[in-house]
Amino acid sequence: HIVVDKPDVKGREEVLNVHMKDKQFADDVDVKVLARRTPGLVGADLANLINEGALLAARRDHEKITMEDLEEGVERTMAGPERKSRLISDREKKIIAYHETGHAISAKILPGADPVHKISIIPRGHAALGYTLQLPEEDRFLISKSELMNRISILLSGRVSEEIVFSDVTSGAANDLERATETARQMVTELGMSEALGLVKLGKKREEIFLGRDISEDRNYSEEVAYKIDQEVKAIIDTCYENAKEILTSRRALMDKIAGVLLEREVIDAEEFERLMNEDTPQSPQN
Ligand code: ZN
Repeated sequence: HIVVDKPDVKGREEVLNVHMKDKQFADDVDVKVLARRTPGLVGADLANLINEGALLAARRDHEKITMEDLEEGVERTMAGPERKSRLISDREKKIIAYHETGHAISAKILPGADPVHKISIIPRGHAALGYTLQLPEEDRFLISKSELMNRISILLSGRVSEEIVFSDVTSGAANDLERATETARQMVTELGMSEALGLVKLGKKREEIFLGRDISEDRNYSEEVAYKIDQEVKAIIDTCYENAKEILTSRRALMDKIAGVLLEREVIDAEEFERLMNEDTPQSPQN
């Protein structure tokens, strides 16, 4: 078995070029931009992205495949196809709009976060009711503690937004909470980012190299340490939650405005979002 790493940005550009060879592209297509927006995708995903773009171009009667077709291809590959048929009530739609607005505002406010590329309340794939797509400008190999904390705050912002606006919460944040908890746990057990536990690696992952993923974890610590880990994870989540709450509570008017636009149009792209954010100056300073 030979394990091949996922391609880096240069690799993705070359893979894209291979798959683009026998197709016609409009002048606005920029392979370098596509490569930058697709971190984590492997060769097969990139081939799929080009195919999706080609299908969309055909459906839209485009003579050549445009950058817009390919951008939609990126989203389909990363988040699954749009599913306009799913029936969602007006109230649910409103909750989803505020939930996604929460993610997006925090992603814009917190430093070091990947830029918001698109906010949508059109369901995608199997589970996502709405989504806020943040795309990195480049591949990242190192991430700081404060950036990880910010990432968790952004994940929690969907739930926080629901809470602020509706004084009630829904099941919609399940995946966010899972990812937030996983990140906090990694900080404590693998990255030495908890003062209480110090610079130790807790738990041993048994890696099945030929499967390319972890299958189990060996516990190599005591019950007492397990308890401390849980406490530390909770402390991180609580801090991030408070941060998210502060960011959003002080921007209630902005939330209403963006959620309103989202409800009306269902999709907000990067430029529009930027414009909506800049129209408004924040009322209180944030850390
Ligand atoms: Zn969410």
